Amino acid sequence: MVKVNDNYLKLPGSYLFSTIGKKVAAFSAANPDKKIIRLGIGDVTQPLAPAIIDALHSAVDEMADAATFKGYAPDLGYEFLRSAIAKNDYADRGCDIAADEIFVSDGAKCDSSNIQEIFSLDNKIAVCDPVYPVYVDSNVMAGRTGTWDPATETWSDVIYMQCTAENNFAPELPKETPDLIYLCFPNNPTGSTITKDQLQVWVDYANRVGAVIIYDAAYEAYISEENVPHTIYECDGARTCAIELRSFSKNAGFTGVRLGFTVVPKELKAGDTYLHGLWARRHGTKYNGAPYIVQKAGEAVYSPEGKAQLKEQVAYYMKNAAVIYEGLKSAGYTVSGGVNAPYIWLKTPDGMSSWEFFDYLLEKGNVVGTPGSGFGPSGEGYFRLTAFGSYENTVEAIERMKKL
Ligand SMILES: *Cc1c(COP(=O)(O)O)cnc(C)c1O
Repeated sequence: MVKVNDNYLKLPGSYLFSTIGKKVAAFSAANPDKKIIRLGIGDVTQPLAPAIIDALHSAVDEMADAATFKGYAPDLGYEFLRSAIAKNDYADRGCDIAADEIFVSDGAKCDSSNIQEIFSLDNKIAVCDPVYPVYVDSNVMAGRTGTWDPATETWSDVIYMQCTAENNFAPELPKETPDLIYLCFPNNPTGSTITKDQLQVWVDYANRVGAVIIYDAAYEAYISEENVPHTIYECDGARTCAIELRSFSKNAGFTGVRLGFTVVPKELKAGDTYLHGLWARRHGTKYNGAPYIVQKAGEAVYSPEGKAQLKEQVAYYMKNAAVIYEGLKSAGYTVSGGVNAPYIWLKTPDGMSSWEFFDYLLEKGNVVGTPGSGFGPSGEGYFRLTAFGSYENTVEAIERMKKL
């Protein structure tokens, strides 16, 4: 008789965004006159830049003519896009990544959850706490995480690396040796980053213990400080220990368009096996290529006009980040993030729990954010606000918070 993959049944309900949705809906129904400002979700709000819209339009027109029509895309991505990525994201930064080490996909969420498939179930993963939940849940579904302890809200076979104010939200090398290490910088949810020297320590460690780093650089475009690495391949030795995940969602507003890529260097091995071939096989078997139209839009991200327009778009969000950061700081809050990332991570005042502060902020300020505890036990006592709203709403939300 058919049986389900019972690993799925082990998943504790992640009710974070549905609980938020329900609480906001209930408050709004009881207070129809109140204008609620949402600084909770991690989705962009600005429209696609003109250079991208133009590329989309002309690619659509190509589809209307038999001479230029495109069917299935190459599994691993069109050459024009892979070359643009290799040049702009890597060669121009002095990093040695070839076009055929880039695997184009429909986004970093899928890649970050699919990548574990090419590794043994015996591997032990290490994640930051708090963490982007996809890394953990995809490993739960695969059966790699042991048992869930509701008291500590942790899995028995996962190594948690606490990121709190005490360590400036940067993980320390774990005591127990992991096989797979998930790192995300600039970080969601804390908005923190690490320096190139700090990342080099991780690369050296991974090479020494034979671990692979899965490096999620989805927020690379928000880096404003000099010594923060834009890619893990800026570090010496990363080609033998790191896979990098990138997305067009946050730098170019493709959350609804869908485009990303994964870099697997050809030297990267697990034991005697090269991972490049394994990922190529997986990608080629299970994925039929990102749409031509979307890959043309991705190419436009690297055009001179595209670059200039997207720089402005990122600057728009980072102006919001500065409003939140400076505003809350002057109001006496303990805040971090917001300098190299569109997320501001604040300590809840007066020892409130993350959810207590959520309710307080919703009821008294009519502002919605995300409770830090939703990202892991070390997120308790913290709260995330995003810079992805409109400037006007962001200013108003912070004015309200100052008056609380
Ligand atoms: C938004 C985000 C992504 C991007 O996901 P897409 O599937 O490309 O939209 C990846 N990682 C993190 C941590 C994110 O916050």
